Amino acid sequence: MTQEIPDFRYTELDRKIWEEKLEKFVPHRIFDAHTHFWSNRFVTPETRCDNDWLDHQTDGELLLRVSQMLYPGRTVDFLTFSMPVTGADYERLNPWAASEVKKLSPHSLAAMLVTPDIPGETIRTMVKTYGFAALKPYHLFAAPGRIRIRDYFTPEQMEAADEGKLAVVLHCRSGVAADIAELEECATRYPGIRWILAHCGAAFNPDFLEPVVRRLADMPGIWFDISGICEVYPQALLLKHVNRKRIFFGSDIALGSGGCRRGRVVSLANSVLWYKNPERTTFWVYEQLLAMRRACDLMELTGSEVEDIFFRNAADFFRPEG
Ligand SMILES: [Zn+2]
Repeated sequence: MTQEIPDFRYTELDRKIWEEKLEKFVPHRIFDAHTHFWSNRFVTPETRCDNDWLDHQTDGELLLRVSQMLYPGRTVDFLTFSMPVTGADYERLNPWAASEVKKLSPHSLAAMLVTPDIPGETIRTMVKTYGFAALKPYHLFAAPGRIRIRDYFTPEQMEAADEGKLAVVLHCRSGVAADIAELEECATRYPGIRWILAHCGAAFNPDFLEPVVRRLADMPGIWFDISGICEVYPQALLLKHVNRKRIFFGSDIALGSGGCRRGRVVSLANSVLWYKNPERTTFWVYEQLLAMRRACDLMELTGSEVEDIFFRNAADFFRPEG
C-alpha cells in the first residue's frame, strides 16, 4: 500500500511513533493550514530552484493519500499552495492549484502564489475568479540582495490584499525578529490584511522569535502557523504569550519535501540546521507533532484548546460563517 505512493515510505518506526506518542494527542478533525502542491509541467526556461523541490510531484490525490497515511482515521481540510519555485509559470500554476484543492475535501482552500511582478489588479481578478482564500508571497522571489518584505510583496499588492481583507501567509526571510519593524508598519498601514506568519514567524531558531514575541502578541491582524517547527521552545513561546485562538496547525507537507522529509529542523547557536537523513529518523512533521505535544503539555493546554489549534481556529478564520 505504502509503495503505491511515489517518494513516500512509511516505516515501522513511523508507525510506532504515531501509535505510542501521537495517536492520543492528535484530534480527529484537522485543518492543515500549510501544505504544498507541485507539478513539473509548470517549469519554464526561467525556472530556478536550488533545492530538491523539482524532484517531487504533489497533486491533490497524492496530498490526500499522504495525509491519510500520516494521520490515520483523521478528517482533514487543507490550505494548499504551490511550492515557491522561482520562475514557474504561475499564470497556469495558480489556477491548477485552485482546481487540485477540490480533490482534497469540500472545505479545503487554495492560496495564490504571488511573485513581485504580479500587478495588484491581477490579484483582485484571480481571487475573484478562482476563490483563493489567501495570498502566498515568498522571500526567495525578491531580487538578489533585497531583503525587505516589500521586495517580495509589493505595496501595490498589499493594497489589493488590504482592500479585499485577504489573508497573507508570510514566510519572513530570516525570522520575524529581523522583520518586526517593517511588519508593524505594514500592519498599521494596511489594517485589512490578515497576516499569518508561517512557521511561528520562521522561528526555526527560537532567537528569531523570542525578542519580539510580546510585540507580536499585542499586534492586531497577526496569526501564526506552527508548520515546520520541530522544537518545543518556539511553540511554547507562542502558547505562553500569544492569544491561543491565533495559532493554526500546519504540516508543510508535500511529497518528498517539507514535512515529509526525514530528520529534523535543528537550531544551532544563531543558525539552523536542515538535518535530512533517511536512516533511523521519522518525518519532520512527526518531529513537529512531538514538539507540539510536549509544548502543549508544558503549557497545560486543555483538550479543547488543542482541538482549537488543530482545527477550529483555522476553520473559524477561513469560513467564519460556518
Ligand atoms: Zn511551506
